[in-house]
Amino acid sequence: MELYSGHINKLIDELAGLPGIGAKSAQRLAFHLINMPKEKVNRLAKTIMDAKENVRYCSECYTLTDKEVCPICSNDKRNHGTIMVVENSRDLAAYEKTGKYEGVYHVLHGAISPMLGIGPGDIKLKELIKRLEGDVEEVIIATNSSLEGETTAMYIGKLIKPTGIRVTRIASGVPVGGDLEYIDEVTLLRALEGRTEL
Ligand code: ZN
Repeated sequence: MELYSGHINKLIDELAGLPGIGAKSAQRLAFHLINMPKEKVNRLAKTIMDAKENVRYCSECYTLTDKEVCPICSNDKRNHGTIMVVENSRDLAAYEKTGKYEGVYHVLHGAISPMLGIGPGDIKLKELIKRLEGDVEEVIIATNSSLEGETTAMYIGKLIKPTGIRVTRIASGVPVGGDLEYIDEVTLLRALEGRTEL
């Protein structure tokens, strides 16, 4: 016997498919949504669709943005000769929150993981190499200190080294396996300042 109506079950299933949402949370959210006024549900649905349709990759750094070129890349005051390589837009946001980094970014949208079958061609790596044809003085690799993050850092380091461009890795003050977005600003800045040559 089905415990709930088919529609509620379907809603619970969809919500449970989202990251970080377990079966219990999915149920709670589903009932919350059902009890919300119709206009509010409409607004939420429209906001999700609008975001999906209007958010795209910045044509330079590949972070998620509403414009062709994101506000960081289109800012003349930023140092476009220093590129910090991060795994995702959330990591970029973590460094931006420190307010101390003046360079620009490159968002890989993932990390190399032989175990998960994610190779160099599956992340925005050739896009990074293409950017190095411009005036770049330093590439700071700020991928996570997980196995995948370290593998990616090493791979990128080997790729860039022969070009003569300075390539550095943030210090490992960042806890192993730690997602950059959960690390406080002081630790992030220390990791940045203590970066070493690759
Ligand atoms: Zn950008």
